Amino acid sequence: MYQIMTAGPTQVRENVRMARSLECTNPDLDPEFFDFYKETCQLLSKAVNTENQALILGGEGILGLEAACASMTEPGDRVLVIDNGVFGKGFADFVKIYGGEPVSFVSDYHRPVNLSELEEFLKKDSDFKYATVVHMDTPSGVLNDAEEISKLLDRYGIMTVADSVAGLFGEKLDMSNSKIDILCGGSQKALSCPPGLTMIWVSDRAFDAMKNRKTPITAFYANILNYKDYYENRCFPYTMPISDIYGLRAALDNYFDMQDTIYDRHARIAAATRKAIVEGGLELYLEEGFSNNVTVVKVPEGITDQQLLDGMMKDYNVMISGCFDVLAGLVVRIGHMGENCYEDKLEATLTAMQKTLEKYGVPVKCDLADAFRRNLK
Ligand SMILES: *Cc1c(COP(=O)(O)O)cnc(C)c1O
Repeated sequence: MYQIMTAGPTQVRENVRMARSLECTNPDLDPEFFDFYKETCQLLSKAVNTENQALILGGEGILGLEAACASMTEPGDRVLVIDNGVFGKGFADFVKIYGGEPVSFVSDYHRPVNLSELEEFLKKDSDFKYATVVHMDTPSGVLNDAEEISKLLDRYGIMTVADSVAGLFGEKLDMSNSKIDILCGGSQKALSCPPGLTMIWVSDRAFDAMKNRKTPITAFYANILNYKDYYENRCFPYTMPISDIYGLRAALDNYFDMQDTIYDRHARIAAATRKAIVEGGLELYLEEGFSNNVTVVKVPEGITDQQLLDGMMKDYNVMISGCFDVLAGLVVRIGHMGENCYEDKLEATLTAMQKTLEKYGVPVKCDLADAFRRNLK
């Protein structure tokens, strides 16, 4: 087994794996399961400090993004796609698939969305039903201020769909301090469950927009209205993946147990990782807006991304991520979120990275693991 230090999926704690192996009831028929599902959703709402309804959908994080676009977009709707990263850009495809007209606000991938630049754009054109934004765009690791962006959009009468699949549970997000209408999360990033589930949090305004559509939602699995009244109707749109949800609940309980320290731990480990990389003479991809969940490092001269990844895996058993789309081949990514986010795991990862770089003759200016330890506050 490799130590997975990737930008998702992340490592899974034993109690989550055990919860997934519990005996199952019939989730379509057992009233206790409806209560369990509902309580789990209420805990999800509590985790982001909102009264908005949370729902768990059977399908990986991408399902939440698609469901938001499928449920909100009517043919001809103009949708603002805030694009300062690969996932940000990708929302345009979902908007198009469901007949909308995406309009992109593109900004530099090396930094977060600048609110005044966005406002300048909105002053000229704000005729959008909703906008999409990514809280933490994993390929670059950039952290956007999704709360403030949603408030700005709201001042122009625009609803917000926010992707925090890779942000939530490592980066704080307070939905009540935002105007986010649909927030999307996933099981396999900082919450540290295996892949398989999407979580969404939906405002009343978004539910109203879906109910008041002139045309029906052209999806079944991705139709959020099909989930909304599951409890009153004692009916899910399809059989819920009960074992996945048992695991999610255990991970959520773990999160609440660590709630007072988890964000500090992510911040400390992320800062020390970045400092070690820089002291070692390697380069970070971002100029500003570093998230605490992922560190993105430029591939240095003298080695390819694949050689670095393969060397770390084969010789040291440590798996980190390469990248895709416009960043393919240019960067590698260390995921230090959720269960990955512990000192010993980062030391092992940085040592593996150093030894592999040195094997290819790439100079590293200090002992990365030492530098990491020294910089931990
Ligand atoms: C991981 C991730 C997703 C979900 O992608 P999957 O392929 O389902 O894992 C969505 N958005 C962001 C920013 C992500 O990092």
